[in-house]
Amino acid sequence: MSVYRSPFERLRQKFDDADLECRSCGYLDLEGGWRVTTSGSRVQYQFACPSCGAVETREVRLAP
Ligand SMILES: [Zn+2]
Repeated sequence: MSVYRSPFERLRQKFDDADLECRSCGYLDLEGGWRVTTSGSRVQYQFACPSCGAVETREVRLAP
């Protein structure tokens, strides 16, 4: 039994599993998740720290 998963879904899984740690204050968000926005072949992940308000941003390019 195999389930097809798109590269995007695999990426999201990877980010969902990663620890959300604010680089500004060290706050570790165990409940939250990345806010995901896509534009073309780029996927941008954003996380707003509820403690200090800093915004973490990661950008990933999807391989063609
Ligand atoms: Zn913070």
